[in-house]
Amino acid sequence: MEELERRENIVSIEECPRCGLKNKRKFQQGDYVLKQSGKCPKCNTPMYIKLIYAEPFKP
Ligand SMILES: [Zn+2]
Repeated sequence: MEELERRENIVSIEECPRCGLKNKRKFQQGDYVLKQSGKCPKCNTPMYIKLIYAEPFKP
């Protein structure tokens, strides 16, 4: 089952619950919604993954 022809890009959206800052980054193994994910660069509050989705590759 190694035939992973990836036509899409999985991304994770992190959000700061305090100031609402959003950060989009590449999905990493082990990510899930509501997982704590680093600290907000603005207010130093722990950020949470709000959304994980796949977007198609744009050539
Ligand atoms: Zn913040």
